[in-house]
Amino acid sequence: MLRSLVGSEICIRDCLVLSTLHTNDAISSAVRLLDMGAPGYLVASSLRAIVAQRLVRKICKNCSEGYRLNTEELLWLNNLGGNLEAINFKHGKGCQSCNKTGYKGRIGVFELLEMTESMMNALKVNDTVTFSQAAQQSPGFVPLAKVALMYAKMGITTVDEVLKLIEMVEDERAITQPDNTETIEQELAQALIEPNDPPRGRDGTV
Ligand SMILES: [Zn+2]
Repeated sequence: MLRSLVGSEICIRDCLVLSTLHTNDAISSAVRLLDMGAPGYLVASSLRAIVAQRLVRKICKNCSEGYRLNTEELLWLNNLGGNLEAINFKHGKGCQSCNKTGYKGRIGVFELLEMTESMMNALKVNDTVTFSQAAQQSPGFVPLAKVALMYAKMGITTVDEVLKLIEMVEDERAITQPDNTETIEQELAQALIEPNDPPRGRDGTV
């Protein structure tokens, strides 16, 4: 855990270091390094990528059922991705297996930010505004809130959990982020195949 300027300078001068910071999201992690007093040129030349992580609760598979968004939820989420009325969201109605909570287990929501040249150029001159803009426009960058919404669309978590996450990270960036999630949704669906699913052959046979 990086807590001080000395710690951050030692880490970014010496070698490949994997470390953690307490911040809201990936973009604010880089800004936090500057706030701690690390020179921008040093951060720019050393930082390779940032992963932010949050946990959301998973819907209990035993009592999962379809769920229609109410007007308030639609209003909140409309900016994250179009045509949500047509999505068959789910929630758990509560059963013995989940102690009547409707949830069982948790899953990680990840946001990956890889440094680009324009991000590094902004960091070099301590320009956090330009850095944030460049980060938001980075083609592979998907904010935490959008990843959580993908989970909800896939029936893994609830819209309620997505809204809690948005509130937690105050993810205003999600509103302006262009919708580039289609490919990532497909990759996520592939990656989230249950590990206990039987292995399949190339032709899809078990
Ligand atoms: Zn249940």
